[in-house]
Amino acid sequence: MDLFEYQARDLFEAGGVPVLRGIVARTPEEVEQATRTLATPVVVVKAQVKTGGRGKAGGVKLARSAEEARDRAADILGLVINGHTVEQVMITEGADIAEEYYFGLLLDRANRSYLAMCSVEGGMDIETLAEEHPEKLARVEVDPITGLDAAKADEIVAAAGFAEADRAEVARVLVLLGEVYRDNDATLVEVNPLVKTGDGRILALDGKVSLDANAAFRHPDWTELADESRDDPLEIRAREKHLNYVKLDGSVGIIGNGAGLVMSTLDVVAGAGKEFPGSPTPANFLDIGGGASAQVMADGLDIILSDEQVKVVFVNVFGGITACSEVAKGIIAALEILGPKATKPIVVRLDGNAVEIGRHILTEAAHPLVTMELTMDSAARKAAELASTN
Ligand code: GDP
Ligand code: MN
Repeated sequence: MDLFEYQARDLFEAGGVPVLRGIVARTPEEVEQATRTLATPVVVVKAQVKTGGRGKAGGVKLARSAEEARDRAADILGLVINGHTVEQVMITEGADIAEEYYFGLLLDRANRSYLAMCSVEGGMDIETLAEEHPEKLARVEVDPITGLDAAKADEIVAAAGFAEADRAEVARVLVLLGEVYRDNDATLVEVNPLVKTGDGRILALDGKVSLDANAAFRHPDWTELADESRDDPLEIRAREKHLNYVKLDGSVGIIGNGAGLVMSTLDVVAGAGKEFPGSPTPANFLDIGGGASAQVMADGLDIILSDEQVKVVFVNVFGGITACSEVAKGIIAALEILGPKATKPIVVRLDGNAVEIGRHILTEAAHPLVTMELTMDSAARKAAELASTN
């Protein structure tokens, strides 16, 4: 989960990292008010969008009065930066920048470690620096067990080539940033620029933080950080039902038990679709897990049937711990729960534990929407055919 700059700023502040005051605003009037609150000679109006290069795109502007800040905000609000529309800005105190540095700490998956990157030439696009002057970007491995301790921070500032006089203070800030990374279960903490001001202070002027969604269970407060405005409404509903659902673009709704089975079902359906006019493709990924109850099946079907692009649903279940007989009962019960909401054909392939009983239950129920197929391939073909002709 990526955070907005102002959220990163808040985490930095909570962790003792030196930052400037900042106020979030959504209208030019709020910006004017915020500027008066800050009461500094210069403020910076900064677009809050989850993409880099805001400065270059005109999303970071200095202002010397509340009126000027309001006008700059009017320019910035509504701007589209790399496909992200600016809906809010942060007003910060203006900093007197003497030098701009770069610091990043990130999860290095390939090496099962953390990687710190640091440069005395920050501010600009770090990808460009890494490409054109790799020697100016120090890369130092950080052991996840010890973390970014004082010794490691000293090593990083030395490798980056900071002036002797700045090393102690920069190293102190890096240790604090390392604590922010650790305490918030981040996968990325990046500060560009980390600056030295005219009066010699070290400040984090721009922050980018990504949090590890796998750690969400131990951070109940993260729900406040979640930015659902960009998420698909069906995905939001699915998340509320604790369903593992991803919206795709096609017309064949997919339900399966087990992520691996669902992934192969997507492939098989996409392959089968090529044989039919319009080449239907999967409408979603939905794994209802091993112990799926009738309610879970109903919740899953409900989400998929709410997708207007869906023309047919393919239920592909391999009975393991949950026997096919239970799954079959679950499908029938789910259709009862949904009642008139169930309107589209459903192709079911059941196999595995208690398959004969499961198939018998579906045959007996003879639900008009349900077609049973014996193999995954034939079921995928049937679903693709129905999507193509409906
Ligand atoms: P980004 O372009 O999305 O990375 O946005 P930044 O927050 O990094 O801002 C871009 C640039 O604007 C910085 O590298 C600085 O050069 C400049 N900038 C940002 N805040 C201030 C400030 O308070 N004072 C001055 N003089 N420049 C600033
Ligand atoms: Mn930046």
